[in-house]
Amino acid sequence: MRLAVIGAGEMGHGIAELAALHGHDVAIRDIKKEYLDRGMERIRWSLDKLVEKKQIRREQADEALGRIHVTLELREACHDADFVIEAVFEDPELKRKVFRELDGVAPPKTILASNTSALPITDMAAATKRPQKVVGMHFFNPPMLMPLVEVIRADPTSDATLQAAIDLAKSFGKTVVVVRKDVPGFITTRILGPYFEQAAWIHEREGVPIETIDAAMRFRAGFPMGPFELADQVGIDVLHHLIVNARRPMPRSVQDLVDRKKLGHKVGEGFYAYKEGRPKLTPEMGQAFDPIRILAPMINEAAELVALDVAAPSEIDEAMRLGTAFPKGPLATADDLGIDVVLAALKADKATKAAKILEDMAARGDLGVKSGKGFYDHGSGGGPMSYETLLVNQDATTHVATITINRPDRLNTLSPQVFEELGRALSALGEDDGVRCVILTGAGDRSFSAGADLASFGDISKAFKVWRFSRRSEEIVGHLANFPKPTIAAINGHCFGGGLEIALACDFRIAASRAKLGQTEVNLGLVPGAGGSQRLVRVLGQAKAKELVFLGSRLTADEAATIGLVTKTVPNEAFAAEVRAFAEKLAKQAPIAIRLAKVLLNRSGDTPIDVALEMEAMAFGLVSSTEDIYEGLQAFMEKREPKFKGE
Ligand code: NAD
Repeated sequence: MRLAVIGAGEMGHGIAELAALHGHDVAIRDIKKEYLDRGMERIRWSLDKLVEKKQIRREQADEALGRIHVTLELREACHDADFVIEAVFEDPELKRKVFRELDGVAPPKTILASNTSALPITDMAAATKRPQKVVGMHFFNPPMLMPLVEVIRADPTSDATLQAAIDLAKSFGKTVVVVRKDVPGFITTRILGPYFEQAAWIHEREGVPIETIDAAMRFRAGFPMGPFELADQVGIDVLHHLIVNARRPMPRSVQDLVDRKKLGHKVGEGFYAYKEGRPKLTPEMGQAFDPIRILAPMINEAAELVALDVAAPSEIDEAMRLGTAFPKGPLATADDLGIDVVLAALKADKATKAAKILEDMAARGDLGVKSGKGFYDHGSGGGPMSYETLLVNQDATTHVATITINRPDRLNTLSPQVFEELGRALSALGEDDGVRCVILTGAGDRSFSAGADLASFGDISKAFKVWRFSRRSEEIVGHLANFPKPTIAAINGHCFGGGLEIALACDFRIAASRAKLGQTEVNLGLVPGAGGSQRLVRVLGQAKAKELVFLGSRLTADEAATIGLVTKTVPNEAFAAEVRAFAEKLAKQAPIAIRLAKVLLNRSGDTPIDVALEMEAMAFGLVSSTEDIYEGLQAFMEKREPKFKGE
């Protein structure tokens, strides 16, 4: 595909690099040569870093560079482009002008996309004579690393244009959330708005210190950064601009900082001074502030989006988790907190009007987890498919299910509840004929699972309690090891202790290059549990396993791949797509054959060879009576892909 990226700044250069690395030809256009030079310098620097970290090979970096060319001429950039992605300043006038010009120089086939964070796409479409070919593609900063793209349907966007934008974002290995209507701020910018603005108003009106609010949001609500830390990171000027564009009142603190040019981290000072690094916040500092005061207005915006049919609750939560690191997503959080509790918090805050949908839910008694129904169905009394610590998704088309350990604020550590829910999820997915492969992963991009949640042990001196937990977790991990369908541990970040034990019980372990792995229990004076002392030896042999366990070492993903602890390591930006592709390939195989082969292979080390061979012969006999074997042979003769039914 031929792409043109308009603007070589913060986002433009990153989008161009991402596209070139995924095999597209890219022309970048900016208005001054020095901006183009700077953009290319940043691309070269980033590619070199990827090579240095062994996430890509030198040839891949060179090939990507070879696919990029820069120009000051809009016509030259666009004359044969299939797709243009605009990433100029966030200025509505400028955007309309650029779209008018693009429409004039790009051939009729070209789709025009904008990377705006919040401006209406419909206005840009109206500046062209091809409004049906205009769409929003909102990447996140930095585009190379952030896994999400919001694809926004403007009022006139055609189905074909929308699909082309979805396909393009997927070709970059990104997860796509479709924003079905062109509402102000789309999903992520809109819901994130109150995170900072509400915090700023509370600070201004009530004098609550910024450290108190930041510590509460970081340590009690589980966000990676508090609102004022985030504001400094994003840039106070960027936030100022966003508030002006949205025509919302400006908090005095923001105006003050802009006037005094204290624009945040990039200039060394904003709400905080950065001479001595990141602000030093502690959990105690946040005790005096209830995070619901900021969560409630965010939930309110998310609820409005559901009412407007902009996206489904699960899509909104996914966008917020991947795009903004909102731990569980606002609507799952609302269900946890209770819709009535959220409403009470909104009513206590005179500045926000509660969304009608929340009032209606409360009136119906749909209060969230405690009533069995809220934005999600939790089943009456917590039925078989309701989980608090997991997200379980299945894709009916690809037959792949994903179990995500969903405690990103606690590094996805494993409590007894996680194990119990994992056991339930495995039973349900094991029996479901629509599922042919299961991926296990952790929420967020920091952790697969950092091990057992020590806080949930309660009193560690109660030997019986700890033994029971260990035995039960081992039973459930055993269930995973013998799961009748192929399993993949998608190791997206830290994978220590119990986390590695779960990964070891999967058939395949695919690690993102950022991941770190280790059987680290001895560092805490513990021993590996949940089968870790046994499965590790089977995978690595005794000497290597002892080295890992005795030293409690933490390996990089590449080191883990070298010793065979993981099946393969994948560059961070390609991780999600690679895992998905691998799972889809497994899910296309003949289910009965895979199931039997898995039993044979799992038992190959501990069954006497004569018994094992007899089992193999019986399995052979069994598959020969399936319909799948006919389909497999038929497809082979007809040189087509088989379609196995599992019958
Ligand atoms: P930036 O200021 O870093 O870069 C903008 C670039 O556009 C500059 O190099 C500028 O010279 C160039 N430009 C201006 N007019 C142009 C024209 N007529 N033709 C070609 N180039 C032109 O800005 P940015 O942060 O990359 O933001 C770009 C867009 O991406 C904005 O719409 C912004 O809202 C959106 N966005 C930004 C972020 C972020 O975190 N920075 C995240 C998501 C989306």
